[in-house]
Amino acid sequence: MSIAGFQFDNTYARDLEGFYVPWKGAEVPAPRMIRFNRALAEELGLDAEVLESDAGAAIFAGHEAPEGAEPLAMAYAGHQFGGFSPQLGDGRALLLGEVIDRQGRRRDIHLKGSGRTPFSRGGDGKAVLGPVLREYIIGEAMHALGVPTTRALAAVATGEEIMRQDGPAPGAVLARVASSHLRVGTFQFFAARGETERLRQLADYAIARHYPELAGQPERYLGLLEAVRDRQASLIAQWMNLGFVHGVMNTDNMTISGETIDYGPCAFIDGYDPAMVFSSIDSHGRYAYGNQPKIAQWNLARLAETLLDLINPEDSDDAVKRASDVVNGFPLAYERAWLSGMRAKLGLTREQPDDIDLAVGLLAVLETQGADFTRVFRSLSLAVSGEAAAPRSLFDNPAGFDVWLPLWQARLAREDRTDDEKRAAMNRVNPVYIPRNHMVEAALDSATKGDLAPFERLVEVLADPFTERKGLEVFALGAPSDFGPYTTYC
Ligand code: AMP
Ligand code: MG
Ligand code: MG
Repeated sequence: MSIAGFQFDNTYARDLEGFYVPWKGAEVPAPRMIRFNRALAEELGLDAEVLESDAGAAIFAGHEAPEGAEPLAMAYAGHQFGGFSPQLGDGRALLLGEVIDRQGRRRDIHLKGSGRTPFSRGGDGKAVLGPVLREYIIGEAMHALGVPTTRALAAVATGEEIMRQDGPAPGAVLARVASSHLRVGTFQFFAARGETERLRQLADYAIARHYPELAGQPERYLGLLEAVRDRQASLIAQWMNLGFVHGVMNTDNMTISGETIDYGPCAFIDGYDPAMVFSSIDSHGRYAYGNQPKIAQWNLARLAETLLDLINPEDSDDAVKRASDVVNGFPLAYERAWLSGMRAKLGLTREQPDDIDLAVGLLAVLETQGADFTRVFRSLSLAVSGEAAAPRSLFDNPAGFDVWLPLWQARLAREDRTDDEKRAAMNRVNPVYIPRNHMVEAALDSATKGDLAPFERLVEVLADPFTERKGLEVFALGAPSDFGPYTTYC
């Protein structure tokens, strides 16, 4: 075992030769720990004491590989904004290795910003502090919100200055943890090259790692497609029920595991608006808030295409038919997951046929008023019965809400729990604190100027999003009007 406690067991390196390039991180002038996720390190069985120090900074900067690591750059392809690139791959990232965590789960440890690789194309292979801390904040917030996601293990400054569009910026690396880095784009890489045997190997690897119940089954490749469909349907439903916009749902950013990955130009909506787009490069709104379920299905269809030869090598019409049936099942799987999330948000445990009208009805009122999605849902628990001043005050014109409210209250009254139980259940799924855009920006701005306190504070608040605390009122509010329209960058 290495001094830092890493006990690597690198199946990707060992079992999938030809799917990656062994590589090393770049040396950097002055690796320094910016933020270390102690709790996660302990969950991984690592020695937090050692890793929190300079030794950890050197490892997580990619500057020095710990004993047993077999760093590598993964090959993958992907559709970016609908256009296919046959070769993307880890252009600024490395898989350091895999460890088995305290609960027996296999987890990738991955570095983002660790220097050029054979997949870098024109890029410098680097990352800068702002985006690294952004991924730290939002990924950890998503985890606390109960969403499957990659996790941030460490953010490290490299001591370099990196040139970016608006001038030099401090270099940084994010060490992140994932249940794997298999993407739809990994399958596309080998499908585009017609490498069916490699695809089979990859699919079997994905099954063993994420869907072991399918291993050895005769219909396992169709089963894999179905399993990814269901995990993604449930993931996107969670995004939608929290107002999360990923911003760059390219097929290389969609995992086989069903975890959220690659926090770039993502953001949470304030006012409810299905057309909401934050990313500066998403000029046609392909990845708008309300488009996310459709895009997930589109990406799933791209995965399906890569699996056809495995699903039925003898009869391609049959393979297409069966794969299409699975992909066409996405809307139903999504709607089920979404409605079940909405029921919980509305405090409903029983299923009734008109629940969907109730949910859609509230969203329609929110949309016409542009009312704050997170605050309205959170404040509903104060209106379980009787007086509804709290949610009402969040609408400029509450007329529509006043029509909806008694319908919901009447429906809620048919549930046999006490009002306190209903309130508590709602408060467990409707967060008070989400990464508000203006708070995130302020934290990143300060951090880039050398003051990490607002970043630390924000991470701490977002680690417990469902418990309202005194003194944190400012973290629960939407952006002030002078914040203006919010634009994010990759
Ligand atoms: P992303 O937008 O982070 O999902 O990345 C899309 C593709 O661009 C991946 O192949 C990345 O490795 C690559 N890429 C992004 N930024 C850089 C960079 N600074 N240097 C090299 N490759 C990059
Ligand atoms: Mg990516
Ligand atoms: Mg990115």
